[in-house]
Amino acid sequence: MLRIKNLHASIDDKEILKGINLEINPGEVHAIMGPNGSGKSTLSSVIAGKEEFEMTQGEITFEGTDLSELDPEERAHKGIFLSFQYPVEIPGVSVTNFMKTSINAHRKANGLEDMPANEMLKLIREKSEMLEIDRKFLSRSLNEGFSGGEKKRNEIFQMAMLDPKLSILDETDSGLDIDALKIVADGVNKLRNENNAVLVITHYQRLLNYIVPDVVHVLVDGKIVKTGGKELAYELEERGYDWVKQEAV
Ligand code: ADP
Ligand code: MG
Ligand code: MG
Repeated sequence: MLRIKNLHASIDDKEILKGINLEINPGEVHAIMGPNGSGKSTLSSVIAGKEEFEMTQGEITFEGTDLSELDPEERAHKGIFLSFQYPVEIPGVSVTNFMKTSINAHRKANGLEDMPANEMLKLIREKSEMLEIDRKFLSRSLNEGFSGGEKKRNEIFQMAMLDPKLSILDETDSGLDIDALKIVADGVNKLRNENNAVLVITHYQRLLNYIVPDVVHVLVDGKIVKTGGKELAYELEERGYDWVKQEAV
């Protein structure tokens, strides 16, 4: 599904990613772990196509399509979802209306008409029940006064509604309390299936107690220095990152 070959990327002429190789297949959950500043968020931004980063070498393809020519919106419309670390507040726009707008934007980009209102309502009902989101939440203004947990709930709800092929969840290195963590994990576990894939990026192993990855990669100084199964996450939790860094030299 996603294929990254020898990816190098820079910002302001400073090289951050130094030759990443990564292949994610449908049905897989991959985790990227690594010390602060190793390039994890840069990698998610480059996959999503954020313009401040420059791809200087390598390839990224998604279902066989070269992503390098596509802007972030086009990538999103192909089915790549990037969670937002700093969600925007949109006063006066409810969670429900925001979802309707994003769904229809995706449909339009893929040559489809707006979703009929009854179908939309059914979808909203189905997904909100699945994620145990109550009605009151749906009518609140987007992200306005949301707690950390509520922001995560909204994000997971958006993911459920859009049903992306590849979801990239870049978790902040600090902020998540245990409730927010469980909201993310429960959501991902309910939404994962054999046709979609998830890339979870995290500094801490804790999240991976709840979302069990198939593959764990360790990113150090812009390179994937180690890849393993879920047990690698436990090893990192116990032993820290120094041993991997040393092995990598
Ligand atoms: P991580 O997510 O692993 O903590 P980042 O991808 O955020 O790492 O950062 C990797 C490196 O890129 C760091 O040295 C950081 O200072 C640098 N960097 C990230 N974003 C920017 C930016 N917008 N401008 C300049 N440097 C940046
Ligand atoms: Mg960081
Ligand atoms: Mg980061």
